[in-house]
Amino acid sequence: MSHAAPFYIGSEIYRKPAFGLNHPLNIVRHAAVLDLLQMLGWLDENSFRESQPASIDQLLEFHSRAYVRALQYANATGNVAPDIRERYQVGTFENPLFPGLFERASMTVGGSILSAELASKGHVVFHPTGGTHHGRSDRASGFCYFNDPVFAVLTFLREDSQSVLYVDFDAHHGDGVEDAFADDERVTTLSIHEAKRWPFSGTRSRPEAGIYNLPVPQRLNDSEFEFLMEEAVLPLVQKVDADALVLCCGADCLAGDPLSTMELSNVALWDAVDRLIDVGLPTVVLGGGGYNPWTVTRYWAGMWGRISGQTFPDRLPAEAISYLRAMECDLIDDEDVQEAWLTTLADSPYPGPVRDEIRSLIRQAEG
Ligand SMILES: [Zn+2]
Repeated sequence: MSHAAPFYIGSEIYRKPAFGLNHPLNIVRHAAVLDLLQMLGWLDENSFRESQPASIDQLLEFHSRAYVRALQYANATGNVAPDIRERYQVGTFENPLFPGLFERASMTVGGSILSAELASKGHVVFHPTGGTHHGRSDRASGFCYFNDPVFAVLTFLREDSQSVLYVDFDAHHGDGVEDAFADDERVTTLSIHEAKRWPFSGTRSRPEAGIYNLPVPQRLNDSEFEFLMEEAVLPLVQKVDADALVLCCGADCLAGDPLSTMELSNVALWDAVDRLIDVGLPTVVLGGGGYNPWTVTRYWAGMWGRISGQTFPDRLPAEAISYLRAMECDLIDDEDVQEAWLTTLADSPYPGPVRDEIRSLIRQAEG
């Protein structure tokens, strides 16, 4: 099956400040992707769809009423009582309370619902503000308040998909999505993530429950990632024979991210996503983590470039270079900002040996 014209789902809401100072997500990500795409001339009006926030009734399809109410109340009052903070993990350093939080989190869910609705009609849909894969039904977790990938999956199931495959390339285990569907035989989840890193789950696969995990050692390189694609991911796609695909493409697996040691190039990831899209299923591509604003912006802008069939320039336009030069990030020292992050879109490859630990992961994943 070939796909109809692709869509980019976004909202101006993501230009508003969020998370507050001293939080790893207090960086420009989504606005920068949109700005860069505009400078490249890669996003036309027909491809862009403004998302709508999910309604309370929609949120309750996965999240508990008590949690949604608590978040709404905290958002309205700007305060979280200690027992509420403890119970729902909101108003913490990890998941801070900030103005507009509820609308923003609901918008991300609404965006993923819209994405799966459009994908069900044959479009490939890119929703880079999605990918809040740690959110729990009854609490916030890992910078995620709701879990929008869960809603993309649920929407596919409602739109007549019998079987959905969720593939997660974020550096962290996609624990919230895995747990949400652990008992649902219609959904298979696969997560490639760095071992021994928060949330410390995803250490093994449970094929009988449709749960696959590839916890990789530090400094995963492009050759190893390609090996895993070839030996684990693509064979699983064949085996599962799903009729819809949700991809979580957190940018924290890229070389240069301050919260992981993975050393992937954006080209290796674009190639992997291309191959998954080429399977021909209704496909939603979400974002996720990513704490280096330069690598995040280039990865997701380039992702849309690949999805929408653009020709990549060797060097970015001058306006884009000045824009990237003006970006800031507290977690990255000025001298560590690479010139290529400012002037190019595609990384040079990061090849390397395929270590034995990677080879043995394949056998483990087969159960
Ligand atoms: Zn992550």
